[in-house]
Amino acid sequence: MHHLDVRDLEASYAGNPVLRGVTLSADKGEVVSLIGPSGSGKSTLLRVLIGLTPPTAGAVCIGGTAVDYADKRSLRALRSRMSIVFQQFNLFQNMTALANVAIAPVKVHGVPKREAEERAMALLEKVGLGHKGDSYPDQLSGGQQQRVAIARALAVEPEILLLDEVTSALDPERVGEVLDTVRALAGDGITMLLVSHEMAFVREISTRVVMMDAGQVVETGTSAEIFTAAKMERTRAFVGAVI
Ligand code: ADP
Ligand code: MG
Repeated sequence: MHHLDVRDLEASYAGNPVLRGVTLSADKGEVVSLIGPSGSGKSTLLRVLIGLTPPTAGAVCIGGTAVDYADKRSLRALRSRMSIVFQQFNLFQNMTALANVAIAPVKVHGVPKREAEERAMALLEKVGLGHKGDSYPDQLSGGQQQRVAIARALAVEPEILLLDEVTSALDPERVGEVLDTVRALAGDGITMLLVSHEMAFVREISTRVVMMDAGQVVETGTSAEIFTAAKMERTRAFVGAVI
């Protein structure tokens, strides 16, 4: 049994199929990267997994338990097991970094405020921002804000972390610090699904890579297989073109 099992997943926007039968899996602690051209459905796949876009067919199992995306209780349970970080960090501007990280455990999961703040501080330390707990988002750089967003995603102690182009909105000199943060998490036992245009990073960090095109999986392989010995011409063209 895989930690995350996605089978024949389909989704549409306004009747247009965008995911056309996606099957993939991730074992516990794996970093599985999704690559593929813009519009291939990578973000939609992550949105469906976290319950922001409803699937129209297929199945998602976490630890062998099927997620029922039509059921509120199932969704609530899902969101304490899985978190997502987006390209745009979307921090609450009127809250300190610490409050941004502590709020979901308090409001959604009923954790006492003191305890949530202690954990939030530990998470800020983990992302290298232990000294910025009292800062507001507009006092932080983009890279720092994104690291707060990562700490916030970790605050519910998820088993699975989805990362959708978390460095794409950053100034080039800020990309490295966020990649360092992701790299540090990768060894921690959390299962990650990563979408990134940083191909050197994808190559280095991924246990497996899933190549997508037009809403389907073209090919799945280890990082070495996909980057140096891809079977499909479409994959070779893509990794060749972006490196
Ligand atoms: P990727 O993340 O790989 O670039 P997306 O999942 O964002 O791909 O997009 C997949 C397809 O779905 C694209 O054709 C895109 O235009 C379409 N799409 C994405 N979001 C929406 C939306 N909110 N409404 C309608 N179409 C969308
Ligand atoms: Mg996308």
